[in-house]
Amino acid sequence: MLTMKKKETIILWDPQLRRIRNNLRSVLISFAVDKGNEISSNYQWKKSEISEILIRSICKCPSCRRNNQNMTFNPGLKEWYCTECYKLIQDDYKRRKVLRDKGEDYGDFREEFYKTFV
Ligand SMILES: [Zn+2]
Repeated sequence: MLTMKKKETIILWDPQLRRIRNNLRSVLISFAVDKGNEISSNYQWKKSEISEILIRSICKCPSCRRNNQNMTFNPGLKEWYCTECYKLIQDDYKRRKVLRDKGEDYGDFREEFYKTFV
């Protein structure tokens, strides 16, 4: 298995390449879903394993679930997020840190999670 250790963004600008990438992702997702459906409910762990592989793959953003976006790898979580979600979470982290430093309410803040997006 390919092991990545640093943040990396893969961006395709060419619309034709994007279409090919999106189609390949759809095929892989459908294949994973079909395989999951074929497995008897007695093997729930096997279904969970397939879901886990899909979540950690570059095929689907674990936050918004879209599969047609450019993606950024989060090495801390070992997951790919679409570039939009990645930026939103980064901005949210910065905003909450400012609020916290001012002593204001910064909401439900899982810093261990947020820190991986820096
Ligand atoms: Zn997303």
